[in-house]
Amino acid sequence: MKIAILSQDPALYSTRRLREAGEAQGHDMRVINYLRCYMNITSHRPSVVCNGKPLEDFDAIIPRIGASRTFYGTAVVRQFEVMGVFPTNESQAISRSRDKLRCLQILAREGVGLPVTGFAHATQDIDGLIETVGGAPLVIKLLEGTQGIGVVLAETYQAAKSVIEAFRGLDANILVQEYIKEAQGSDLRCFVVGGKVIAAMKRQGAEGEFRSNLHRGGKATKIKLTPEERSTAIRAAKAMGLRVAGVDLLRSNHGPVVMEVNSSPGLEGIEKVTEIDVAGKIIEYIAKNATSGKTRDRIKY
Ligand code: ADP
Repeated sequence: MKIAILSQDPALYSTRRLREAGEAQGHDMRVINYLRCYMNITSHRPSVVCNGKPLEDFDAIIPRIGASRTFYGTAVVRQFEVMGVFPTNESQAISRSRDKLRCLQILAREGVGLPVTGFAHATQDIDGLIETVGGAPLVIKLLEGTQGIGVVLAETYQAAKSVIEAFRGLDANILVQEYIKEAQGSDLRCFVVGGKVIAAMKRQGAEGEFRSNLHRGGKATKIKLTPEERSTAIRAAKAMGLRVAGVDLLRSNHGPVVMEVNSSPGLEGIEKVTEIDVAGKIIEYIAKNATSGKTRDRIKY
């Protein structure tokens, strides 16, 4: 098969591993910088052009779209879909998962476990917002944050009120969330491919840190999921319409709750910790499922 990895940097661990794994399985692998491509949208033969040459005859693409490049990146993925090329994740599903609020609303609608969450922009009723999630302690998040930046634990009512007022002053969209204390600064990353959890790890935040992000000094270990955790991760990926997803869960007193569903989950941490050939499993999935024109996204919101 001829498979394109849409990535800005061939040297990134995930890009490199996908390429190696594809070649090891006998496929023709190309890394394409999607930002450098342009598209011919109007012609009878829609195309994507890179370095002056149309990208033709691809059987599948693996989108690895950077969070800050969602708009252009998903447009390129959509163009390949128009051309009948199979994407590991469809453009719609990528856009859907990039919006934290939309993601939580879809998961709630599907009955997937979530922390009690409120959403606001410029409410005057701060007391009501705090009460929605059961009072302090609570977690306040900037909607646009990544890697744990803009995620604040407010231990008291007064602290919560000050932070919400400050964010309101910044004209920001904020999520207010029940604090899952019993998770003890850890979360579970479940790597889902084609409706199965193929690898999972536990991330533990640094001493005294409630955020488990590895970028913030967290440490990861291999973990065995419970059947309930496994099925929550699978349901979350399915609800978002993602075939390849990194689902982050917290272990709460009311069962596993989803924090986030990532459409371009990194391979480095999970492969090193679990010693599972995650890249190889993604390629195997493509080899089994890539059929021209196969668009399965039927999620209507
Ligand atoms: P980001 O997308 O910026 O990583 P997250 O919403 O995933 O932000 O939060 C970062 C980390 O903070 C999570 O991985 C988790 O460890 C911790 N965290 C976030 N929300 C809660 C919560 N409601 N209760 C307990 N811990 C939380």
